[in-house]
Amino acid sequence: MHMRIINAGSGSKGNCTIVSSGDTHIMIDCGIGISRIRRLCQEYGIDHLDGLVLTHRHSDHTRFLSYFMDTTIYTMDPDLPHQVMVESMKTYDIHGMTMIPFWLSHDAPYTFGIKLMDLTESIMMISDTGYVPSPVLKLGYDATYLMVECNHDIQMLLDTNRPYPLKARILGDEGHLNNEDGAKAIAMMVGPHTTTIMAAHISQQANDPNKVMDVLSRELKPLNRDDLTIVTLDQNQSTCKGEV
Ligand SMILES: [Zn+2]
Repeated sequence: MHMRIINAGSGSKGNCTIVSSGDTHIMIDCGIGISRIRRLCQEYGIDHLDGLVLTHRHSDHTRFLSYFMDTTIYTMDPDLPHQVMVESMKTYDIHGMTMIPFWLSHDAPYTFGIKLMDLTESIMMISDTGYVPSPVLKLGYDATYLMVECNHDIQMLLDTNRPYPLKARILGDEGHLNNEDGAKAIAMMVGPHTTTIMAAHISQQANDPNKVMDVLSRELKPLNRDDLTIVTLDQNQSTCKGEV
């Protein structure tokens, strides 16, 4: 079985990804405009969703929730609408796919990332966290797809005219991963079966996709893995990898 990953958009203005395996389709967050989601579903022949995973309550992840209220919603946050409350490091079956949620460190309560697996492939999704806890690095080792936040370049963030408390929030332990920390986490999780790296949640003001690629190639160089596909996800454009 093969997986297909469609990222509908990634960044502080909205996030949404649909992971498919066979006829199972799981949406992770719904912060991207409904017209783009509908167009992508039509383009890729997705006529239903088997689950919607809400990683945390920030609006760039939940804004279009009202359109998905008849989907089975998985979350850790009791204040979000849900059918299934998930716990960190437990295993859940969603129509033949396996999901393992894991706790992350972010300034919204109950923020989590997930690993999704079918019989042969897997994706590790880590975004909206100030750091990557070591059990998460272990869980993510050798995932086929590594979708990991590379939110900001520290100097570019400091150079923005954002108020200092906001900069401190983003830089802190409950903020977002900077390029170096994201790339280091990715380098630690790359294994023999890893094929694709997707850098996520790239800030439009405080980062530059070229910088992300530079840091990634520097951190991954010692691994000698010229076979890896590396992409930066975009706020305004969808990205699709893999085939079902
Ligand atoms: Zn967030």
